[in-house]
Amino acid sequence: MAQIYERVALIGLGLIAGSMALAMRRNGLAGEIRGYARSEDTRKVAAEIGLVDCVCNSAVEAVKGADLVVLCVPVGAMGAVAAEIAPHLEHGATVSDVGSVKRVVIDEVGPHIPKGVHFIPAHPLAGTEKSGPRSGFAELFDNRWCLIVPADKTDPVAVQRLRDFWIGLGAQVDEMDADHHDLVLAVTSHAPHLIAYTMVGVADDLARVTDTEVVNYSAAGFRDFTRIAASDPTMWRDVFLNNKDATLEILGRFTEELFALQRAIRTGDGNHLFDYFTRTREIRQGIIEAGQDTDAPDFGRVKS
Ligand code: NAP
Repeated sequence: MAQIYERVALIGLGLIAGSMALAMRRNGLAGEIRGYARSEDTRKVAAEIGLVDCVCNSAVEAVKGADLVVLCVPVGAMGAVAAEIAPHLEHGATVSDVGSVKRVVIDEVGPHIPKGVHFIPAHPLAGTEKSGPRSGFAELFDNRWCLIVPADKTDPVAVQRLRDFWIGLGAQVDEMDADHHDLVLAVTSHAPHLIAYTMVGVADDLARVTDTEVVNYSAAGFRDFTRIAASDPTMWRDVFLNNKDATLEILGRFTEELFALQRAIRTGDGNHLFDYFTRTREIRQGIIEAGQDTDAPDFGRVKS
């Protein structure tokens, strides 16, 4: 695949940035990849494993001469990073991000971006519960969606270049309005994470009564919740604090549906439960048909 950017700067060197670096290398998308992370520990590990071509000691050093800068830090840190790098961005460069919430990134990063620099927010819908510089892998974005959220007046050539870049990383690309993005993600990602955190918290309270039974006899459903609930606390704190309205709207609807199911159980309304579960099973089938998950038994889990 052809090179798309001369020099890419990744600010933050965790799961997403690491996976981007490895996928860029796999497909030769960048002439040079530079990276910066806040802590010396992370920078040391990134240098040791050769995650990027050059690990810089500051974000300012990393963005110098870059024609693509991608902010790969938690959503709550994006504004401060943008303010720091803004005076050092190259004319004609593109600044993008990978944050899980889009409206707040536009509001907090946008005002710092100087004239002559393209600002094109993005969000790859791919991840794991792991974090840090060792957690990335080149295949993370393969066949996943990356949603690009350009403002109306953004240069279409710069947008196409970023689209080509994400396609080069293995993703399928779509464009979406920021508020719509935040509502869709509240349904598909943010509320489910909060529910998983809650369920594991409830089980943990129970475990104090039942000792290790919750861990030893955990069924597949609960194990999947524990995987989701192992996700990075900083990242998810920032997601909820920065996508308040959409998350609370979806949680409100969730609570109403939960009450209806609770009533069906109490009153023995089997038809309600059966019809509900039939509808949800069809949604699962649709996701498998769209190639976004596998129907391998037990999710292909290694048998112990
Ligand atoms: P990660 O593995 O925890 O990496 C985060 C990186 O950001 C680390 O290098 C960290 O540096 C740096 N960082 C943290 N706080 C910072 C601050 N205040 N100032 C400067 N740098 C800071 O996280 P990730 O999973 O790659 O997530 C990065 C972004 O991708 C987030 O905005 C998240 O919403 C988005 N995202 C995540 C997923 C997912 O499933 N994980 C999926 C899609 C999008 P140190 O290591 O030195 O602390």
